This record gives sequence, C-alpha cells and structure tokens, in this order.
Amino acid sequence: MPSSFQKDFADPLNGPSRGRPSRGPRRSRRRRLKAHLARLRLPIPSQWGALSLGLLTAVASAAFAGLGGGSAFAPATQHMSLSVQPGLGTGGHADLPNPLAFSRPGETSPEASDAGSPWHSYTVNPGETLSQLGERTGLGSSTAMAMARACADTYPARKMRAGHTLRIRPGDGDAPAAVRYEIDDRRYLAWQPDGDGGFTASIRQYPRTIEVREAFGRIDSSLFGAGNQAGLSDKTIMELARIFGWDIDFAHDLRPGDWFRVLYQEVYRDGEKVDDGAILAAEFVTGGTSHKAIRFTDADGRTDYFHPDGRSVRKAFLRNPVKFTRITSRFSRGRMHPVLGHRRAHEGVDFGAPTGTAIHATGDGRVAFRGRNGGYGRMVKIRHAGRYSTVYAHMSRFAHIREGQRVKQGQTIGYVGQSGLATGPHLHYEFRVHGHPRNPLKVDLPDAEPLPKKYRAAFRKRSHQYSAWLSAVGPDSVRVASAQDADSSS
Ligand SMILES: [Zn+2]
Repeated sequence: MPSSFQKDFADPLNGPSRGRPSRGPRRSRRRRLKAHLARLRLPIPSQWGALSLGLLTAVASAAFAGLGGGSAFAPATQHMSLSVQPGLGTGGHADLPNPLAFSRPGETSPEASDAGSPWHSYTVNPGETLSQLGERTGLGSSTAMAMARACADTYPARKMRAGHTLRIRPGDGDAPAAVRYEIDDRRYLAWQPDGDGGFTASIRQYPRTIEVREAFGRIDSSLFGAGNQAGLSDKTIMELARIFGWDIDFAHDLRPGDWFRVLYQEVYRDGEKVDDGAILAAEFVTGGTSHKAIRFTDADGRTDYFHPDGRSVRKAFLRNPVKFTRITSRFSRGRMHPVLGHRRAHEGVDFGAPTGTAIHATGDGRVAFRGRNGGYGRMVKIRHAGRYSTVYAHMSRFAHIREGQRVKQGQTIGYVGQSGLATGPHLHYEFRVHGHPRNPLKVDLPDAEPLPKKYRAAFRKRSHQYSAWLSAVGPDSVRVASAQDADSSS
C-alpha cells in the first residue's frame, strides 16, 4: 500500500471548507416549485412536474409558436430548458454551441433519475479522519480504506474538507451501492463498488440546467438600477453594456424613459441558480433609436453578437485607445500650440493619463512605424485594412512590438508618457483616413467584419426566432422578475 495513501487515510479531513456549506438531503424540485408558485399565487399545471422556477418569466406567448418549428408549445405556460455540458464557456458564462437546442421541459437528468433510491447525507466534521467518517456513517473502516485507495490518484482524501457533504446510497449487502463527495458546486467525487470489495473513483460534473429568461427594463436613473429591478445580475448588466457599448455611450447617451429587453440564460443546479449565462438577444432603445443584438456561434465555436442584418455589433476601431482617461485637448483645425506658441491645427485628440498607462491599438493592423519622430516623441503608427491608419505619440516606452508586426484590436502597444513636445503625460492619438487626419471622437467608425456569408442563412433563422420572441417581452416581465427577487431573498 503506498504510504501517501496511508497518510491520506489517517490524516484528519479538517482543512478549511472552500466550497459551499453542505446541504441537507435533496429537496423535491416539485415541492420547491409548488411553494414558490403558491407564494406568487399562480396556477400549477400538473405537467410542470420537473420544471424549475425559470418558467415564471417565460411569458413569450405566441412568439413561441415559431420556435423549434413546433406548434406543440403551449403559449404562456411554456418554459424551455436544456442540459449543458458544464465547464463550457469563458469568464463564468455558460456558453452554448447551439443555444436553440432546447430540450422539452420535464426531461429528467441522470441525477434526478436515481431519486428513487435514498441517499444518506453526512457532513464532514472538522478534524475527522476518513477512517472516523467511515465508522460514523456505517461504511466501516475497511470500506473507507478501500475508498481512499480508489481515489488516491483522482482526488486524494486529504483534499476533502470539513463542511462538505458525503452522500451514501446503501447497497444490498455490506458495501454501499454508491458514495459521493461534493467537491464544489460543479463537481463531485463518485465511488462505485467494483464487485471485488474495492471501488473505482472518478470526478464527475453535476448536471446543470440552462434556463432562458426574459427581462424588460426602463431607465429611471441608471442602467444598473433598471437592470437590477428587471431581475438582472450585475454581471449580466455589464454584459449588456458591453454588447451595446459600441453603439451607445452609457455615460452620456442614456435618458430616463430609454428601455431595453433581454433574453438571457441562467444556470441552475437542482433548482438553484449557480451562475449567470449568456445574453442570447437584446434590444436597447435610446432616444427613440433601437439597437438589436443577436448572439451567434459559428461552426468553429466562435461566438459573437450581430445586428439582425448580419453586421457585427462591434466596430473595426475602439473609440478610445486608453481606459480611464480624460480628454485634455480636442481635435481642431487651428489652435494655439502650448509649446510652440503659435497657431496650428491639432490633428488628433489628447488623452490625459498617468505615465505608464497602457495604450491599446484601436484596431487590427500592422505596425508601420515604431520609434522617435520629432515632436511626437516615441510614436507608433499602425496601418489598418482599407484606408485607415492610427498614430499614438508621446509614449514613455513601447510594448513588445516590432515594425511590420501584426497587432490585434485592444493589444497594448505602448505606455503613456511625455516624450517629444508635451507639457505633461498624455497620449496624442490620430485617426487618419487616406492619410488625412479625422476627429477620432466624431468620425464614423467602420463596422467590424460582418458574419461570414456561409453562416448567413443559419443566422437569419436564429435572428428571426429571437427577434419574434424578444418583441413579445414587455414591461409585464418586470413584475414577475421582482417577485422572483422577493423569493430568492426569503
Ligand atoms: Zn496632441
């Protein structure tokens, strides 16, 4: 027997709990739903058995008829959910290769299907050894030993923590039918008897459910205020602002009465929300102008947002090459130069920022110049596709870029300084079209690459479905979302 295993077995399982506190035995989802609906005084159709709370916001009514080509959707009571492979996506957002691959509600997950056989739950005590835990739970010391041996490579017993849950499903004889240790929200360690007195152990993912929800918000004072009131998490609100940030200046353009509606996902495990999902489609109306964005994932797994006509919501250029900055001098055809002391045009915009602030390439392109250039000081010039070029001056130093190298939009190319003719640290930024300087703050920025032609048909279909659904989302959703808030805080 390997000594490391022996140590695992004897060591107390008393590390600090890193996961959620343990929960009692699984509550019936239906009971939870019933209680929830009762509080909201809504009818409970019997076929909703395994549905979770997300259906409360699904009021899409007739718009559903077009979804999935099925007329089987019952308007106003239908809810869609789908199982998703956990761990997909980035930044905590569940990402679906095909967000419209809805399964019918009520489908049971593998987890739910074994509900017929009772599980017994135990919480690991501080200072408890696996051996002691084995005795306390009735597994017995030798079974616990065999379990520790089985998981020595996949998830050694010494990593188990007080406060976490061990669940045991009794078998016919002495050996348990199955044992599980909850690692975190997403994973558990599963032991299966190998029929020979030993066990096999593996780490598995809890089945999770993605629920599609609707929200409608009207701006009163702030986007966050309206978003929270509509039931959106801060993370989803930020995502909304990121998607529309290319078209809407949220710091200056927002007016009371502006509104938005969103189809978005939430990730559930056993009826409990465990994560925010992606925004599938959204509309934002500011000053009477509607902006729409539809999420699309292509065959290579690249996900982006597009306008319903297939144009990217993104632009080929960022408006600002530095974050958290203030404009200290605007574009002008003629002004008094602070150092040279005579009138001359200011062919760019000055962004005041502390020395060392990162400067980002505003668009994809190739480094055309990197070096000192008279009054510009340390300067980078990037040549972009088509007729565009950008200039970044007065840098304190360059990032690791060479002339001729390709750079991506947002890539750091240098750092703010005051080299050349400059009275203080700032970035002098020029945006040129056919070599002629244009006002970077005012110029119409070209769109980023549109959706490739080969995906147009698939996107159009998706866009029609989402748009129809979205158009059915109105202020009524807010009321439901508020009720949802009240419940989750109880
Ligand atoms: Zn300048």
